[in-house]
Amino acid sequence: MSFKAIRADKSVSGHEVRFVEMDESELMDGDVTIRVTHSTVNYKDGLALSGKSAIPRRFPMVLGIDLAGIVETSSHQGFVPGDQVIVNGWGLGETHYGGYAERARVKGDWLVRLPEGWTRAEAMAVGTAGYTAALCLLAIEAAGVTPAMGPVVVTGAAGGVGSVAIALLKAAGWRVVASTGRLAEAPYLEGLGASEIIDRATLSAPGKPLGKERWAAAIDSVGSVTLANVLAQTRYGGAVAACGLAGGMDLPASVAPFILRGVRLLGIDSVNCPMPARLAAWGRIARDLDRAMLARMTETVGFDRVFDAGERILAGKVRGRIVVEIG
Ligand code: NDP
Repeated sequence: MSFKAIRADKSVSGHEVRFVEMDESELMDGDVTIRVTHSTVNYKDGLALSGKSAIPRRFPMVLGIDLAGIVETSSHQGFVPGDQVIVNGWGLGETHYGGYAERARVKGDWLVRLPEGWTRAEAMAVGTAGYTAALCLLAIEAAGVTPAMGPVVVTGAAGGVGSVAIALLKAAGWRVVASTGRLAEAPYLEGLGASEIIDRATLSAPGKPLGKERWAAAIDSVGSVTLANVLAQTRYGGAVAACGLAGGMDLPASVAPFILRGVRLLGIDSVNCPMPARLAAWGRIARDLDRAMLARMTETVGFDRVFDAGERILAGKVRGRIVVEIG
């Protein structure tokens, strides 16, 4: 059976990304075949869609790092036809055909069951960005840092990771400081649960190795100078979960916060994250993320609008999350 997909193919100038018709016989190996109904646009998807990034690591490659859908066939003992499932990462859109296609075949070991009572669209409103925000929160908690120790700062606040992070942190009892370049989004960020809004410019210029102790924890999706400043302003014994590079991949920091204040830097990876941590993250999301709030941070686009959404996310113009209707 043929289906529509967005595929990256090698070309003379590098690679080309476009809509193609594919046949199920072209799908990669896996023990579960899924009818994909929804996907999303994360920052990484924007990079891949631009055709200028090194996200696809083999060609041809169907793009899309997330998918939600319904199991059609399965030889995996954990899943049967009709099950509603989510896949985040595991190389989707990089080394294994991804979610921008009406059909996917993947390893059953990669699947997370749709949370009870949730829709597939809601699961993609969370997507990799939201599930990564949950991984960050769980890492801070595992480090023993609590709301009683002080506020938490979220950088890239109006983006996907940032928006879900604010909502989850607020639900966990934190006082949230939101750092954004879009001060006009203050009412939106306050609506998600931010108590204080700061201009991201205050964190983007090179600062001192140690600054005034402002927060006990941080969820950073920006990296670079911003992450260095966040570390330098973290309170004694605090923890910073670093998951992103929206502002750059470098880290021009000093060891001062680590050796003089015992600050911990927690690295967060969503792609190869082991299943127990994924299930813990999705469990927390299902329990604590207010779905009405999730709806307020989400925009829905048709499959044909994915390229436009990819351009907007790279330009920093997307607020919150985007759901893509695939099937
Ligand atoms: P979004 O584009 O939705 O959010 C990123 C936000 O960062 C923007 O909305 C903006 O927030 C801020 N930002 C953008 N450019 C800059 C800049 N030059 N300097 C400072 N701030 C900037 O992306 P996502 O939320 O999907 O992803 C965020 C980051 O996290 C990306 O780098 C992504 O690759 C990474 N990521 C990593 C994962 C992992 O496994 N480690 C998983 C998921 C995401 P504002 O307008 O509020 O300032």
